[in-house]
This record gives sequence, structure tokens and C-alpha cells, in this order.
Amino acid sequence: MRDRLQTAESVADRDETIDHETVSVPVLVVGAGAAGARAAIALADQGVEPLVIGKSDHGDAHTTWAAGGINAALGSLDPEDDWTVHAADTLDEGHYINDPEAVELTAKHMPDRIRELADWGMPFDRTEDGKINQRYFGAQSFRRTCFVGDRTGEAMLDTLVAKARDMDIPYRDNVMVTRLLTDGERVAGAMGFDMESGEFVLFRSDQVVLAAGGSSALYERHSSREDENNGDGPALALGAGARLMDIEFVQFHPTGMVGARYGEEWDGRLVTEAVRGEGGRLINAEGERFMERYSPDQMELDARDVVARAIAQEIREGRGTDNGGVYLDISHRDDEYIRERLPSMVERFQSLGVDITEEPMEVAPTAHYSMGGVDIDFSTGETGVPGLYAVGETVAGVHGANRLGGNSLAETVAIGKLVGEHVAEQVEDTAPAVTDGQRALAQREFHALAELADSDGEVTARELLADLGDILWEHAGILRDETSLREGLAELDALRARTADLRIDGDRTSRDFEFAVDLSFSLPIAEAMLRGALERTESRGAHYRTDYPETDGDWRRNIVVSEEPTGLNLRTRGVAEPSPEVQDAVDTGYELDYHHLE
Ligand SMILES: Cc1cc2nc3c(=O)[nH]c(=O)nc-3n(C[C@H](O)[C@H](O)[C@H](O)COP(=O)(O)OP(=O)(O)OC[C@H]3O[C@@H](n4cnc5c(N)ncnc54)[C@H](O)[C@@H]3O)c2cc1C
Repeated sequence: MRDRLQTAESVADRDETIDHETVSVPVLVVGAGAAGARAAIALADQGVEPLVIGKSDHGDAHTTWAAGGINAALGSLDPEDDWTVHAADTLDEGHYINDPEAVELTAKHMPDRIRELADWGMPFDRTEDGKINQRYFGAQSFRRTCFVGDRTGEAMLDTLVAKARDMDIPYRDNVMVTRLLTDGERVAGAMGFDMESGEFVLFRSDQVVLAAGGSSALYERHSSREDENNGDGPALALGAGARLMDIEFVQFHPTGMVGARYGEEWDGRLVTEAVRGEGGRLINAEGERFMERYSPDQMELDARDVVARAIAQEIREGRGTDNGGVYLDISHRDDEYIRERLPSMVERFQSLGVDITEEPMEVAPTAHYSMGGVDIDFSTGETGVPGLYAVGETVAGVHGANRLGGNSLAETVAIGKLVGEHVAEQVEDTAPAVTDGQRALAQREFHALAELADSDGEVTARELLADLGDILWEHAGILRDETSLREGLAELDALRARTADLRIDGDRTSRDFEFAVDLSFSLPIAEAMLRGALERTESRGAHYRTDYPETDGDWRRNIVVSEEPTGLNLRTRGVAEPSPEVQDAVDTGYELDYHHLE
């Protein structure tokens, strides 16, 4: 909670010293998904041994849920594809507020990163002649998405973790960072607690890489794991003095499972875009293939924002199913093909009594990805706060106003490697000592956390997170307008006031305590989302304002958020231009011909 973080300052220097563990390392990598893992491998390659930490076991990060694939212009099936077209597609679907450098670095490096992953043992699907196979994904001009069935993220993280283990990169599981240690103008480590023992930990390091995931799970209906994507990364960076960017852009994936049909525990869980990439059709309750009306050329494979709005409109206008969704049907394809290309989808629905080779699924949009995050320099990962770097879904820039499916996994490894290499060059002290001042700062944080754990009010953090999810879904969802966003901000204020009445049973290993820390991250990010969405008086990509339905050229700017003593400060910044070769590809106007799939 920002309130808690503020009290950390006011928890005056106490006489009592709270016991804690101290760990001193040359580089601390916070987060062990694909981004953290790839950065760590690059560090180790340069002879620096980082410590990687995460909230779960090694190999168990949100990345494992990525399903459909990872983009690289290999041209295995479509030789006309190249990295400039990949970059142009990314800019086009990002509605030209992406950071062109971020996009170009990702697109340019991806073919090598894919070949490297294959060399490290990632079992990519292959064509008959042994090339890495590629499938269509939404709004991409060519078949560019490499895949391992529909378990690409799991296969990728398995590969990266095996590589990290081969290189003896140390990993510490079940530790949650609550605050970065800022010492004067720079970051000097991180503080947190061991989620199994409840013991406090001070990590002392002059270089900290944040790879702690995104913030889309703040929404009531979302596709993430319950304990991931709660805004930890962006909030930790903001609290340490870094800037956030594009935080108003949240991607709503068109096809989340419908809870009323499959059970609430499945509500919002993703039906991978690969279903549409393999020819899946969207049908409303009247049996109409409605994308004909919204996007006759690209149909179901138009960009996610277009398809999500189309589904939402069908439901709103009464053409949805009784359960509040639409149908997604792949059953016209050969059974064996579906089983081979979409094994987890087949399995998951089978466990719910649905055979997707024979019958359609029921789907509706779900909050899926945060395009916004920490504002970084992409060739280095620098955040502007000395000693603090960020990478992966925690950052903003590659995807602009709308992310192309398959580009997020791409960003994690393409940029992860660059950041790791840069950070390795900055290391001067491999075992930095803890100063008295740093020790005092850590004590303040531990006292504040101990006080938080002892909260004996009436409301749980889980309840408040659920209410926060409702506020965002209701007021900063697929369709937004000024009145509703203002109402959302007022409701957020009221919710913030209720955090004074938190109930935690004193047990720092409990979920209640973990969720209370999550809440502390979620609140400033939710505020930034609402305020950013209010500030952006236009519609662009995933941000759709019903009171400003057009894209406004003057708004080709990023909204940048910083935390000041008076609260969050928002300002805008112009966007750089792409390189001439990428601009050429943009001007050529490549476009997917959906009817290849028919
Ligand atoms: C269902 C689903 C399917 C997807 N499918 C695809 C796809 O097919 N292709 C694609 O390109 N993208 C896909 N994505 C997006 C993609 O999976 C993510 O953007 C990407 O995996 C993010 O990787 P990351 O390393 O940045 O973060 P994560 O994998 O989220 O890892 C974050 C790490 O940070 C740790 N952490 C978080 N907070 C803290 C804290 N406070 N203290 C300590 N550690 C912390 C976590 O424990 C974890 O280890 C999908 C997303 C979802 C939700």
C-alpha cells in the first residue's frame, strides 16, 4: 500500500532491532520468468554470478502460462518476412506510440534468440523439412509465430531454467520483495520476506534488475495467475523514483473462458489465440460469424483490441450466449490436427466435459496484458535511477497501444539478453557491504511490515483486491469515458481508506499477508491506470474512449507517470520516429491475408 510505504518513513527509528537475514550479491534479479532468466544467463555468460529470486519455485513463473507462441521473422514458411516487417507490424498494431528502438531491437534480435533457444533444447514444432514451424497470429502479415503446441511458455521457461542450472546460477525461491532499498540517488538492493518462514531479508546489491511481471491481474476478470501480475514490478520501480509509461493501455484478450459456463474458477482463463491462428471461428448466439461485419479482410485474426470490442458489442447488443459469451469454434478442422496443435486446450476442455474437436467453446474478453510499465532505455534496461534496471512485462515500450500476440515472449529474451550484458559491465563490487544508513532504512521497512502483519481490523486484503478488480473492470475496462473514470477514481479513494481496517492474523507466511503486500503494489498502479485513461482524450488501440472515439494525431505521445511528494504526477512526451528501413516496411503496408486460412 502506498500508505504503508509512506508509513515506512514515519515508523521512526525504533530501539528494537528486527532480526533479518542479509544477503550481499553483485546483481539481484527480481523475477524468474523468461525475462529474469534470460537476463541472468547473459550476466553469467559475462562472468557475473547474479542471484535470481522469485515468489515461487524455480521454473514456476507466470511465463509457463504463455501458450500460443513466440514471434521471430525466420521466414520458415513465408520467405518474404523479415525483421523490418515484424517491426512494422508491431508499430502498426501499437498505433505508433511504441518506442521504435524497443521494437527494432526486439524484431532484429529475435531470429538469433529463437535459434539459440532451439540449440539449448527447446522442442519447437518443426516443418516436414526440419525448419522451425510458424503459425499465424492476429494482425501479423506473415506466419511468424514459433511454437511448441500450445505450451510454448512452459517449454521456453523449462529450457531457460535448465540452461541457468547448467551455468550454476543461484536461485532463491519463495521470497517476496516489498520495497527497493534506495540510498541517496541510487538503488542499493531490496527488502522483503521469505514467504515460507516469514523471516525478513535484506538484499544488498548495487545492481538490481526488476523482471517482476505486469499488472493485468488487477482487473476482476483476467487471464493471469492469482498471485502474479499484481503490479509488483511497476510499483517497486515507481516507489524507487523510476517513471512509468503507457499505463492506461491494458490489453483485453478477446477469448477468455466464461465462468458462468465452466465454473467461476475458470472465469477469464485464456483460450489461446492459437485457436484462431489455426482457423477458429467466432459465432454469436444467432449463429452468425459476426467478424464479417467488423473486419471482413482479417476476420478473427484482426488485432486483439478490434476482436475484443467486437465480441463485447455482440454481447452488449443481446447477441451473446445465455452465459454472457460468444462461441469460438475450431471443430471444422481435422480432429488429429486440433489434438496436435492445441493439446492443452483439448485437455483442459475435456476435463470440463467439452470435446473441442466436436463442439464450440464459450468465450468473452478478459484482461490479459499490461502494455504499460516501467519507462526504460531499451539497449541498457536503465530506468533513470542509477543501479535499477527493468525488463519483460514489467516495462513499457515495445507494444505501444496494443500488443501483438507472440511479441511478449519475444521481448523477454531479446531485451533480457541485452540488459544482462549491459548490467554485467556495471558491476564493480561483488559483495557490497551494508552501511549503517542502509541498515536503518531496512529496519524502517521491516517495522512497517511487522505492523502491517499485526493489523487487526475487519477486512481482508483479498476482499479489497476483489473490489479493486471490480472498480477497474467497471470504470477502466474495454470501453471508457470521463464520467465513469472519475467515478472509478472516487471509488478508489474510498477503497484506499478501507485499507486502514485491514485484518491480518500476524502470520507473515499467510496468504492474507502476501495479498496485503500485493494490495500495496496494486493501489498506485490502479490510480495511474485510471488517471492515464482520463488524461488520454482519444481512442487508440486498447484504450477506447466512447466520448473520444477517434484517434487524435496530436495524442501520438506517451503519458509518463512519476511519484512526487504530492502524489502521482502525469506528463506527456513525444514519440521517436522509426529507422528509415522500418519506415519503408511501414509504408509498404504489408497485411495478413486471412483467407489463406480458409
Ligand atoms: C494465459 C497467458 C498466455 C500468454 N500467452 C502468450 C504467448 O503465447 N505468447 C507471448 O508472447 N506472450 C504470452 N503471454 C504473455 C507472457 O506470458 C508474459 O508477458 C511473459 O511471460 C512475462 O514474462 P516475465 O518474465 O516478464 O514475467 P513473469 O513470467 O510474470 O515472471 C515474473 C517473476 O517475478 C516474480 N515476482 C513478481 N513479483 C515479485 C516480488 N514482489 N518479489 C519477488 N519476485 C517477484 C515472480 O515470482 C516471477 O518469478 C501470455 C500471458 C498469459 C496470461
